Amino acid sequence: MSETMRDFENNPVSQLEDYVIRGTACDGQVLAFAATTSHMVEEARRRHHTKPVVTAALGRTMTAAAMMGLQLKQDSEDISIQIKGSGPIGGISAVSDGAGNVRGYAENPDVELPLNKKGKLDVAEAIGIGVMSIVKDLGLKEPYVGSTHLVTSEIAEDLAYYFTASEQVPSAVALGVLVNPDESVWTSGGYILQLLPGATDEVAEMLQERCTSFPQLTTYLAEGHTPEEVLNSLLEGLDFELMARVPVRFKCNCTRDRVERALISIGEKDLVSLIEEGEDVDMTCHYCGQGYHFTIDEVKQMLEKARTQ
Ligand SMILES: [Zn+2]
Repeated sequence: MSETMRDFENNPVSQLEDYVIRGTACDGQVLAFAATTSHMVEEARRRHHTKPVVTAALGRTMTAAAMMGLQLKQDSEDISIQIKGSGPIGGISAVSDGAGNVRGYAENPDVELPLNKKGKLDVAEAIGIGVMSIVKDLGLKEPYVGSTHLVTSEIAEDLAYYFTASEQVPSAVALGVLVNPDESVWTSGGYILQLLPGATDEVAEMLQERCTSFPQLTTYLAEGHTPEEVLNSLLEGLDFELMARVPVRFKCNCTRDRVERALISIGEKDLVSLIEEGEDVDMTCHYCGQGYHFTIDEVKQMLEKARTQ
């Protein structure tokens, strides 16, 4: 029994906790991920005061990042999904580290749009035409960056296209967020199925059929089904084997120290003009909304640091 399996048995994840699972099927031809992320996305909504269509767009992106974080080998590595589009949201960024900490934000959180023709939150319209980039920081000199253009701007299809076109890994992705009438998050989750090298056409076709006939993911999760049930159902009879189960949460890595360093890095000239303005400086972390207050004396000390650097 692997270490991961032992941990999982000794530490059952509570029903109230968000988590991601990873497994394989078809003799290793298929790699599968599934996630339940309602609490994580609700926390993002609460921090950023996102309107429903933005909650859906950000929640889908963060859910995808949470699942992709399970591929990282070290807790210190991270993976980010960045979306830039012509729509009113502007951009979305979500980052997951290897320990299940996920953070994210949308450039414009207060976008409101009519529902689309299917009666759903119009994420595609809110994002518009654009590009999706995946950045993997694996602790090497340079991060790995891959980009593809958005194909539907609904995020799941765009990510599937990215995996297939940029990483040559044919993939199926489903991501969904349901929002309550009071704008809080009802349910959120997703799955990713990937064909590994050597997968047969037969397996590819079978998975495509399974995904097509699978119920609407958010409805399925809202009925109380778990990520395990999602993958067991999608991969029924295909020797699905669960390899890992990891709790995930909204958690930012910002610290006062990090924000101070960012402020120092704006350079002497800008620090001098801040000091000349004579007012305390307030900084807000984009990713989590946490505020940091610096007195004018502290800014003066930063100027000293900038000069000696
Ligand atoms: Zn932060």
